[in-house]
Amino acid sequence: MTTLINESNPFTNALSQLSRAIKVVSSNEDIIKRLSSPDREIKASIPVIMDDHTLQIYEGYRVQYCNILGPYKGGIRFHPDTNIDEVKALALWMTIKTAVMDLPMGGGKGGITVDPKKLSKNELEKLSRGWVKKLYPILGPNVDVPAPDMNTNSEIIGWMSDEYKNITGEKTGATFTGKSLDNGGSEGRTQATGLGGFYTFDAIRAKAELPLSCKIIVQGMGNVGGYAAQIFHDHGHVIVGMSDSKGGIINQIGLDPKLVESYKKEHGTLAGFPGAINVTNNELLTTATDVLIPAALENQITHENANEIKAKLILELANGPTTPEADDILFARNIPVVPDVLANAGGVTVSTFEWEQNLKGEHWTESEVLEKLKSSIQKQTLTIWDSSKELNTDLRRSAFILALSRLSKKLS
Ligand code: GLU
Repeated sequence: MTTLINESNPFTNALSQLSRAIKVVSSNEDIIKRLSSPDREIKASIPVIMDDHTLQIYEGYRVQYCNILGPYKGGIRFHPDTNIDEVKALALWMTIKTAVMDLPMGGGKGGITVDPKKLSKNELEKLSRGWVKKLYPILGPNVDVPAPDMNTNSEIIGWMSDEYKNITGEKTGATFTGKSLDNGGSEGRTQATGLGGFYTFDAIRAKAELPLSCKIIVQGMGNVGGYAAQIFHDHGHVIVGMSDSKGGIINQIGLDPKLVESYKKEHGTLAGFPGAINVTNNELLTTATDVLIPAALENQITHENANEIKAKLILELANGPTTPEADDILFARNIPVVPDVLANAGGVTVSTFEWEQNLKGEHWTESEVLEKLKSSIQKQTLTIWDSSKELNTDLRRSAFILALSRLSKKLS
């Protein structure tokens, strides 16, 4: 008899990842109680006068999950499918992620249910400022420090930071990270998530018995996937597959990510890219490759396709792309999954550097920032890899166990 599995609720999956980790190594009971629900979840109605003078109300969120290690920290997502359960899951993952990286930050996340592609720039600015108008009382450099996430960028963060400064008189700019360089941002922040993913991979490539030049498939071409494809390409790996929300392309000889980007800009799609074959999302995920990099949405690798995956390693640059059921299938098949809470932690790490620079009134060079990112993410990667071998468990459980031990220490 098959059991009915609801793999689609990301918050249920995030809680399940937590309970699966404590079955391997038990943890302080108080920390488990603390992490079973967020400290606070806020929904706000955001009114926007649209360009045609009609009034639209958007639903916005901020979930402050846990601040044991420091101020709540995490991005703000603009997406038509964003809802409170997704934001809660993302906020719990941020709590684990900052602990994995040993950062002086807690976990939070925000969002707005909106398709930003349908808004004019003027409407997008009003919506971004509207989110701050509703939520500014619960933000601050020592309270809650938002950042970009899916479909948000330094321009949107710039409007938000400006609105926050106008309302509160704040001067340091440390309440928002992911700002542009001329607005108090950090060197290296834009590419930090993709680059952090590469450093993580590089630390374990040989241990995972992968060749010097790997075949790579990247799902997603946003800020994270786009940079990741370019960075892996620049380091001598062969990008055999890429995709956007409409579909993917495969070329076993290799794709030049810059040419793919400009083709997408010109044609609005990847379909028809010269020399490549068009594939569906699922065909892209199940094509043979050394490394598969999901860098789009949650729940992409599930019990339905985990047995078809032909990658030798999965590097999660998206948040929550693999369900717990799929984790078990992949572990049994000996395919390591480098979890989101480690592989995509480069973004929040450099965000934390930005926050620190703003508070101290400093500006660090790009090489200083990237050197710090590389050494810290590779150190955590090796710790998690080694402990997964000692405990005979997967890398996700191993990362959660490390995070829980740091959170527990701070609690006691
Ligand atoms: N949104 C990114 C994440 O999911 C970065 C968060 C941050 O910079 O605070 O990790």
